[in-house]
Amino acid sequence: MKPAAFAYERPSSIAAALDLLALDDIETRILAGGQSLVAMMNLRFARPARLIDINRLPDLNYIRREGDELAIGALARHADIKASALVAQCCPLMHIAYEWVAHGTVRNRGTLCGNLCHADPASEMPAVALAVGATMVLRSKSGERRVAAADFFQGLYSTATRSDEMLVEVRVPVAPAGQKAGFAEVSMRKGDFAWALAAVLLTVSNGRIAQAVIACAGVDDRARRLHSVEQAITGQAADAATFKRAGSLARDAVNPHDDATTPAEYRKDLVCSLVEKALVGAV
Ligand SMILES: Cc1cc2nc3c(=O)[nH]c(=O)nc-3n(C[C@H](O)[C@H](O)[C@H](O)COP(=O)(O)OP(=O)(O)OC[C@H]3O[C@@H](n4cnc5c(N)ncnc54)[C@H](O)[C@@H]3O)c2cc1C
Repeated sequence: MKPAAFAYERPSSIAAALDLLALDDIETRILAGGQSLVAMMNLRFARPARLIDINRLPDLNYIRREGDELAIGALARHADIKASALVAQCCPLMHIAYEWVAHGTVRNRGTLCGNLCHADPASEMPAVALAVGATMVLRSKSGERRVAAADFFQGLYSTATRSDEMLVEVRVPVAPAGQKAGFAEVSMRKGDFAWALAAVLLTVSNGRIAQAVIACAGVDDRARRLHSVEQAITGQAADAATFKRAGSLARDAVNPHDDATTPAEYRKDLVCSLVEKALVGAV
């Protein structure tokens, strides 16, 4: 299928892009890697009347450390983030989770910011952003605001981004020394969206869990932190029995729906296994 007709703009400055976004006359979407948007347009699930192609905007393709944060610009591609030694060092969870994101050709074009704005409920990076406490930097003609990942994802393919805003950057806290990361996923094929996934961060002190973060995706309309499970295992021994219990608690903490291919009970079983597996992997 082909998309419905649309106007195409390719501004050469961020200011010009924000001017176009502010017009508010017809439905307008930003085009980044196009790896989700173009497919949605071809299937006519999305019918924007105007696309703003940001691919030639200067100064948005970067991955850099700024103090105790990693800053990743709107045009940083999945492939570059996956290969980045800085990301591996400063955000091990993102590094290991990238192993599961799409395929090489898709990663060459797709962007992290586009992925977060698309907010697919079975995508890896929203769960990572939630787990690490990322901050979204949203810019419009009227200024800039920062939104925590916990407030950014608002439902199925829905985020806090206003129609006049661009996500110009994601900021990720540098992982503290000693923090351990784990990630586990099941999908139909490697590189597909997850049937279910678990992303975890653990800090262990004297054999006990000092801090636990557990995020899941594929089991709700958006990625979720499992706060009740995190609290239940904090202070417990960082051992196989605790991790198994965490899996069982996670199973009861999620409430997925049946869909055409995957029964809800199966997804709950997956979450049980994946949370345990991610915690074991972390230590
Ligand atoms: C075959 C295939 C397999 C895939 N597998 C996976 C997978 O396993 N896991 C996974 O997570 N993803 C997967 N994807 C999706 C891929 O990660 C996309 O790259 C990503 O979801 C969207 O990024 P993009 O840069 O291509 O955004 P686009 O497709 O250009 O845009 C997506 C949406 O975000 C908006 N947008 C983009 N950038 C911005 C911005 N800076 N500010 C505001 N709004 C913006 C657009 O307007 C649009 O609504 C797959 C895609 C394909 C085609």
